[in-house]
Amino acid sequence: MTTTALYDMVIVGGGPAGLAAALYGCRARFKTLLVERIGLGGQLLTYEKVDNYPGFPEGVTTSELIELFKAQAVRFGMEHRSVEVTGLELSNSVKVLHTPEGPVRAKAVILATGCTPRKLQVKGEAEFTGRGVSYCAICDGPFYRNQEVAVIGGGDTAVEEAVYLTKFAAHVHIIHRRDTLRAIKILQEEALANPKITVHWNRIVAEILGGPQGVTGLVLQDTTTSALSQLDVSGVFVFVGLLPNTQWIPEDVRRDNLGFLITDDHMATSVAGVFAAGDVRSKSLRQIVTAVGDGATAAFSAGRYVESLAHHG
Ligand code: NAP
Repeated sequence: MTTTALYDMVIVGGGPAGLAAALYGCRARFKTLLVERIGLGGQLLTYEKVDNYPGFPEGVTTSELIELFKAQAVRFGMEHRSVEVTGLELSNSVKVLHTPEGPVRAKAVILATGCTPRKLQVKGEAEFTGRGVSYCAICDGPFYRNQEVAVIGGGDTAVEEAVYLTKFAAHVHIIHRRDTLRAIKILQEEALANPKITVHWNRIVAEILGGPQGVTGLVLQDTTTSALSQLDVSGVFVFVGLLPNTQWIPEDVRRDNLGFLITDDHMATSVAGVFAAGDVRSKSLRQIVTAVGDGATAAFSAGRYVESLAHHG
């Protein structure tokens, strides 16, 4: 990576939002670079199949969809580096992105850094992460063939992944803190009709139990009576929401009270020349279909911003 190259736009993040932004940036003939740290695909890498992206009436595997997104962006000249961005200098007209391989300079930056899974923050969680506690069913599900596992949470991720885990596990216990699921109805119907799934309503995890071999069970607390009970499982999949990946982004890029980046309708953040797209953005619907829309808008807006710089010298 040279310090001399000045990109029109650098996109941080290789999920659907970043890849769509790259496609739009390249097609508009802006000098565009995409940087990401975990491989193209972002959070899609943690799912097996997508059933709600238009154009695929039978659904599409995430690996196939990522390859298609990538091939389309590459066809129009996407430049891509796999390197972690550790810091940003955004206040000048030339933005500087710091990486272990040296700085990258850009006229505009698109932040499409997505989210990471929230932790439960209960006793045993940190100790048994990687030894029975997981945040990724596609990564770790196959280890639990014919075993009993628990899924924590009641949102789309928890319910969808519980159904996926029934491919391997003998039984899947969904632990949900309320008496109704948050997940959309079609996912609820699928899970509730599955004989390998039991929902434990009004329960929170008080502790994750285990020993030298890893997780052995959960202590559950009834949220209505406070009564404690024990559930024997050898795997715990935690899906209790998302945290935006913004830790290294300067404070002057405004956030909402949950830490998601605030943009206007053009995906512009509070800092000139800095745009945000996808799950990292403060918005109501976090889906692939909304991420790619954000990415396209962000690239279009970033392009206009770059042109305005040229215009004003
Ligand atoms: P989410 O929608 O925020 O749901 C988080 C779930 O975890 C909720 O049921 C919540 O309970 C529960 N929870 C939160 N903190 C908890 C705690 N400390 N202890 C116990 N339970 C706790 O997160 P998500 O399911 O990961 O979904 C994130 C976004 O991705 C959503 O916008 C979702 O629609 C989207 N998504 C879409 C699909 C799809 O379209 N196929 C698939 C996956 C994700 P409450 O319900 O009581 O708040």
